[in-house]
Amino acid sequence: MAEELLVSEGAGRTRQVVVGSFARFGSAEPVVIAGPCAVESAEQILRAAEGVAEAGAHVLRGGAFKPRTSPYAFQGLGRAGLVHLRDAGRAVGLPVVTEVLDAQDVALVADHADMLQIGARSMQNFALLRAAGRSGRPVLLKRGAGATVDEWLHSAEYILAEGNREVVLCERGIRSFEPSTRNTLDLGGALAARRRTSLPVIADPSHACGRRDLVAALAAAVLASGLDGVMLEVHPDPDRSISDAAQSISTGAFAALMRDLHLPPASDDLEVMRDAVDGLDEAILSLLERRMALSARIGEHKRRRGLHPHQPQRERDIIERLCSRSGGRVEPEAVERIWSEILSASRADQGDAAVQG
Ligand code: PEP
Ligand code: MN
Repeated sequence: MAEELLVSEGAGRTRQVVVGSFARFGSAEPVVIAGPCAVESAEQILRAAEGVAEAGAHVLRGGAFKPRTSPYAFQGLGRAGLVHLRDAGRAVGLPVVTEVLDAQDVALVADHADMLQIGARSMQNFALLRAAGRSGRPVLLKRGAGATVDEWLHSAEYILAEGNREVVLCERGIRSFEPSTRNTLDLGGALAARRRTSLPVIADPSHACGRRDLVAALAAAVLASGLDGVMLEVHPDPDRSISDAAQSISTGAFAALMRDLHLPPASDDLEVMRDAVDGLDEAILSLLERRMALSARIGEHKRRRGLHPHQPQRERDIIERLCSRSGGRVEPEAVERIWSEILSASRADQGDAAVQG
């Protein structure tokens, strides 16, 4: 008999997991988690927090308990790191997520963080999963580098089975034969996981690729694929990052990435907001260029078939459909005015083609 899993309930739909007062995983807007690999000092995490908050991140990250390959490498600041992270999050108004490595530390971490992270290396630490399930905090469950999608979902089941449904899955790259990137971002696996559960699924391109030159393009790919968000390592001075320097991007590079992804900045600095609006205008213009080019081909088609370029019923249908899809910010009257202009420009273009033809 097939197992009945809580993690499979409502598969295909996405339930929302809310962290803090405004990070909504599984909503129409992708959630961006950003911050350094590790909390290194109160000043470092505060500078990171200010940079990522201003650029529009929704959740601040930073490790206080670090799972390191070598026991001699920096292991994180522990309890002091939790306090610095919490204070930095409060200072900029962002909820915080941080890794818990040991079941014994769950209560302590839950006391300081809005969301608990279970790291890739702990994905099958079942005692830790159960403890996180009883913590009363949402959990970010990273996929083990050697774990199948099925094993990952069963790990989530341990948390759900304790009565905690607030789980977000995070793909972070799997081991493969390919050494160009640190791990291989398994976007297909993440999308397959999303079909099998109603839990939101995000991806962490930083740990997946291990190189800062690929992070922005992979983040764009993750969001284009329709996943529910990204986690990114951002450091105020990446070359001085104690851990994962190679993949950490600067706060400036993070702001540029957010602008390129058309995610709104939180900053109320006029220059920053104007820069973001300029980016949106450029994106709208480039879509309009594509629309005009396609419309010209439609004009050609109409001309060959002897149809008139002006089809009033089709234009009314377009405007009506768009009015019904508007999210509320763009009033129906505004939709009507804007698209009347667009359609009239297309019509003029098609008319010209007809005359020229
Ligand atoms: C991290 O996000 O801090 C981390 C250690 O990542 P992972 O568990 O995916 O290696
Ligand atoms: Mn890291």
